[in-house]
This record gives sequence, structure tokens and C-alpha cells, in this order.
Amino acid sequence: MSLETNIKAAIRDVPDFPKPGIMFKDITPIFENQTLCNEIVDGFVAAISNKPDAIIGIESRGFLFGLLLANKLNIPFILVRKAGKLPYKTISYEYALEYGTAKIEMHADSLKKGWNVLIHDDLLATGGTAEAAAHLVKQQGATISGFSFVVGLNFLNGKQKINIHSNNITCLAQY
Ligand code: AMP
Repeated sequence: MSLETNIKAAIRDVPDFPKPGIMFKDITPIFENQTLCNEIVDGFVAAISNKPDAIIGIESRGFLFGLLLANKLNIPFILVRKAGKLPYKTISYEYALEYGTAKIEMHADSLKKGWNVLIHDDLLATGGTAEAAAHLVKQQGATISGFSFVVGLNFLNGKQKINIHSNNITCLAQY
């Protein structure tokens, strides 16, 4: 079976979570399957043509495969978190949500000017979060080599939102 088929078989659809009308793609069963976890990391590695200087992982499920991937590539892993969670000096970026705004942060000293980095999260929906992470990266004088996600919800057109930063976008399982 293909990697995409195996990922889809492991994902649990939870209707109306966290609010009515949302079909939540629960990836937690993936973490109970070590073979599949290894295959996912290998799938991300295979999709990389130029090794990035670092992996940027988005809170919180982006930390899971993000760190595994960074370790596999032997490069640094950098956390993007919701405002107020990182303890040291931070830079932040505020972006619009359907209702209101959200703010994400990164440690101010984590990225080096000129680095070319890969942004990773578990799932690409509208692309708003990954796009905001791209702004944080650019604020630090770094560039974006690509984006990677375990899951892509293509009907929400997230790729169109983030491809202004890089059109090297990997979604291992697409809906
Ligand atoms: P977005 O900014 O719209 O691309 O949303 C991406 C973030 O929201 C990711 O960090 C996902 O973990 C989460 N997310 C959005 N929609 C879903 C969904 N249907 N199932 C699981 N996670 C989701």
C-alpha cells in the first residue's frame, strides 16, 4: 500500500470538533504505529531536493514530525508558538482569523540571516498559520525552501495562500 493510503487509514475523522461543521483529522493514531512514523519521516526526506538549514515546526502538532525530521536531516529544529509561550526574547507576527486575530512567536535568536528553512505543520487547512510562520521567518532575514504537512485539505485552497513564499509544498496525504 502507498504511504498516502497508510496515512489515510490511520487518521481518525472526528465530526464537529472543535466546533460544529468541522471534520477534525485526528492524527494521534499515527503515533501508535512506529513503522508508519518512520515511513512518514522518510516520505518527507524523499520530497526534499535541497537540504534546508533548519526545520520550523508550528505549535503544537507540527512539533511531532518536525523534530523527527530535523534530527533525521541533522539540522536544527525551531519552534513557532502561540504568543506568550516562549520564555526568552521573541519576535511575533499577528494575522487575521475568521473572527479576530492570532499571534505567533519565535525566539529572536533562533534563525540566522540567509538561512533557507522548511516550515512544517501536521495539517494544511486555509494556510493562514503556515503563511504567518513564513512572515516570521522572513522578518529574521531567512528564506523559505518549502513547506511540509502530513495532511493537506485541498478544498480549502491553503496552497494558493502560501505559494507566494515557496511553491515547494509537500502534503503526504491529500483530501
Ligand atoms: P490553517 O491555518 O487554516 O491552515 O490551519 C492549520 C492549523 O489548524 C494546523 O495547525 C492544524 O493542526 C489545525 N487544523 C485546521 N483544520 C483542521 C482539521 N480539519 N483537522 C485537524 N486539524 C486542523
